[in-house]
Amino acid sequence: MKKYDYILFDLDDTLIDNLENVRHAYKKMLEYVGVDYTEEGFKKWFLLDTQYWLDFGNKKIDVPLEYQTSQELFVKYVRSLRYMKYLEGKISLNDAFIINDIYLQALNEVVVPICGAYETLEYLHDKYKLVITTNGPTLAVEPKLRKINCLAFFDYIFSSDMTKKTVTKPNREYFWELQNFLNYYKNNRMLIVGDSLKTDIKGGMNAGIDSCWFNPRKEELPIEYSPTMVISNLQELTRKL
Ligand SMILES: [Mg+2]
Repeated sequence: MKKYDYILFDLDDTLIDNLENVRHAYKKMLEYVGVDYTEEGFKKWFLLDTQYWLDFGNKKIDVPLEYQTSQELFVKYVRSLRYMKYLEGKISLNDAFIINDIYLQALNEVVVPICGAYETLEYLHDKYKLVITTNGPTLAVEPKLRKINCLAFFDYIFSSDMTKKTVTKPNREYFWELQNFLNYYKNNRMLIVGDSLKTDIKGGMNAGIDSCWFNPRKEELPIEYSPTMVISNLQELTRKL
């Protein structure tokens, strides 16, 4: 008899290769400013971008008053400032706005699936209810899944921006809201699959839901985390479930 009814999948870096998505957008930015691509440059951008959003979350990014008049203008400014920081004053704010359009467009152009995503989901969707559980924007989920031909495999999509209290994985409240959304409350018949120990595995531990750590780089498991199972390739799930 099968052990689970619902499989909860993380999206970014579990089903979609976020790094390749960002690399493509980065190349398009360089094309615009006429700079050659290097691995080193990309690494620098990736680190800067990651840190930038952490700083933004900690309210460390100052937005001039004139860009606070609408949500749209605010978001455009915040997004564009990253390119100015990266290119260290070599471009104007207006260039940064143009780059932002190019960058966002490029993020939608290339969506690379994680190896084995299609085969794994195709196998699982006949046996289980499949749910996307992400902290990313809901709006991005369907286009991404459609690009990798996997949208039809999912029964539900749930994102932190759909929660009433704006809660994210790994908070217990996120999973309460998820269960209300699904109208399904048997923790022991659910499995969460994800690449992040801090959000997916910790989330499962907080909610009393079994978890599967997707660990493609075969990193060592820190002692404070206890996933129910660990895989390094998605297709291992077809043998385990
Ligand atoms: Mg992830």
